[in-house]
Amino acid sequence: MGVKVVKFGGSSLADANQIKKAAAIIQADAQRRYVVPSAPGKRFQEDTKVTDMLYACYELAEKGLDFQRQLEAIQKRYQEIIDGLGMELSLDSEFAEIADHFRKRAGKDYAASRGEYLNGKVIASYLQFPFIDAAEVIFFAPDGSLDDDKTNAVLRGRLAGVDNAVIPGFYGCGADGYVKTFSRGGSDVTGSIVAGAVKASLYENWTDVSGFLVADPRIVENPAVIRTITYTELRELSYMGASVLHEAAIFPVRSAGIPINIRNTNAPDEPGTMIVPESTDEEISAYTITGIAGKKDFTSINIHKDMMNSQIGFCRDVLNVLANHNIPLEHMPSSIDSMTVIVDSSHLKGVEDEIRTEIQKAVQPDTIDTEENIALIAVVGRGMCRTRGVAARIFAALAHARINVRMIDQGSSELNVIVAVKDNDFEQAIRCIYEMFVNSVEG
Ligand code: ASP
Repeated sequence: MGVKVVKFGGSSLADANQIKKAAAIIQADAQRRYVVPSAPGKRFQEDTKVTDMLYACYELAEKGLDFQRQLEAIQKRYQEIIDGLGMELSLDSEFAEIADHFRKRAGKDYAASRGEYLNGKVIASYLQFPFIDAAEVIFFAPDGSLDDDKTNAVLRGRLAGVDNAVIPGFYGCGADGYVKTFSRGGSDVTGSIVAGAVKASLYENWTDVSGFLVADPRIVENPAVIRTITYTELRELSYMGASVLHEAAIFPVRSAGIPINIRNTNAPDEPGTMIVPESTDEEISAYTITGIAGKKDFTSINIHKDMMNSQIGFCRDVLNVLANHNIPLEHMPSSIDSMTVIVDSSHLKGVEDEIRTEIQKAVQPDTIDTEENIALIAVVGRGMCRTRGVAARIFAALAHARINVRMIDQGSSELNVIVAVKDNDFEQAIRCIYEMFVNSVEG
């Protein structure tokens, strides 16, 4: 019987009622043996996540100010959960220890990690599962990256001895022996590490949406849910701004070929989105495309020079200027006598003139001009390479909506087509591409 690792996000565990839903999900399937909880998240829109309360509280401690009231407010949130679950558990000694560590400046990461730690304690006790402190099984290397070998070995050993366990997300033990966290949203990463270590058959990531959507719901009304997406497609869409899962959560399961299922705690009957390795024979989406995502506020730097194509090292010299300023580049379309470099506008703030001067000096172009307010839209789909007319449909949709396309780039993987439009055409462009592929009847 395969093992499933289940991770629940903050909104899935925000109060006693949500924790009851999570517990019912866990108890409904004996394969759901290892549970990775986040800290309690927001119960309503204006609420504050426990993690943010902890950061704020520790900031006071660090300044030598009184933090008792803030810490009590955090304890109150847990107490409400404990009472709502009808449990007897007392966290008094845990909070006394936390206060003591705050006074001794145990660090911001330690402070933030207590959200998951305490929630793990509560949930383990409610489920009657053993609690395993993540600081004892997840290890970081001196450079701050995960120490895979040690983590896998220790985690595997510890979990081999137990049928079930609750392992809090978000943190582990730093190379210096102190608690260290992943970046925000990092419980997703913990879940993935645990799934990889026990060679799970499935990593279920329970959240408050029914999976990845084909397009951003703030732009497209009621977009369709993506049923299946490959890890690579997901990388493309996440890079372009679609977010449900922490970026680093893909790697530990991807290398082990374990699928991730994004599910909704508030709608457990919905199948959610399956994230699968590229090698599976999962059929391609009914829509040909898998998803559309994009970002605004790029700048294109257009460089023209007659006979540029015969000047060896031209592109390299231009890119060196950007590299020297630590500026990542997004795309680089080129023609015989000109090249364009597209960069995130925020990186050019305050250095644009300097960069132009340096490019001028490096390659003596005939002209350099920049254009701001460019948006990039990625239309992603593994079905593209097998289907004729995908690009034609994208451009027909845009032309029909009278949107001017500033640049086109088809990735070499034939997994995506990237189009650049003006920022103010962004939303309309996404809507009409969505309309063309999802709402129109496929021929
Ligand atoms: N509680 C942490 C955060 O708010 C980590 C997580 O929920 O994944 O970022």
